[in-house]
Amino acid sequence: MASKTYIVEHLDDELGPWSELEYLTIARESHEAGAKFCLSSVPPSLELPATLKAAPGFTADGQSVEVLYAQDKSHICLLDPSATKELSPEDGSTFDVFLFGGILGDDPPRDRTSELRKKGFEGRRLGPKQMTTDTAVRVTRMVVQEMVPLEKISYVDYPELRINKNESTEMPFRYVKGSNGEPIMPKGMVDLIKKDSEKGFGDLF
Ligand code: SAM
Repeated sequence: MASKTYIVEHLDDELGPWSELEYLTIARESHEAGAKFCLSSVPPSLELPATLKAAPGFTADGQSVEVLYAQDKSHICLLDPSATKELSPEDGSTFDVFLFGGILGDDPPRDRTSELRKKGFEGRRLGPKQMTTDTAVRVTRMVVQEMVPLEKISYVDYPELRINKNESTEMPFRYVKGSNGEPIMPKGMVDLIKKDSEKGFGDLF
């Protein structure tokens, strides 16, 4: 089948440093895997960070995914934590576009993916636990491009990050386990988490 496209529909009003690091990582990994990455629904008023605009593999579009693919939705798969079917390697032959909500995770999850579900895309789940957007794209790529079944992927759930000598924070997400046994996170994310947790997380996830 044709090469894969990963679309993140930007659903937040802003694009803060957490999203920037996640999107940079998705752009780089998609590019390395010979896939395309598009950040859709970017409002004209939103000035994208220069690092993102310059990243190989990064493209942005002001239109929403519905408009971009108005002709035919049947080859688009929405990665949806509430879908009843799990993503499988065979889905790589059915779909060539994989759609994700550009939403920072929250705890408990507010199901903002429903904004995309309502538009009638066929959905697949990546297991029962909430992943960060870059993790969801990474897992999808492993399943549909590398043909690894979901249950064969090693994960780290809710890792504890040490902020300083006295404090640590638990990340309320599932991550892919790297070869060093640590959760795979965007470069710079651990430092950002430490910095933000000193200020108090609030609605940062
Ligand atoms: N709290 C969320 C919500 O409001 O829906 C989940 C946001 S999650 C950080 C961002 C995106 O990653 C979701 O919109 C979805 O596309 C994808 N995602 C994350 N975990 C997933 C899972 N277990 N199954 C399917 N998709 C998932």
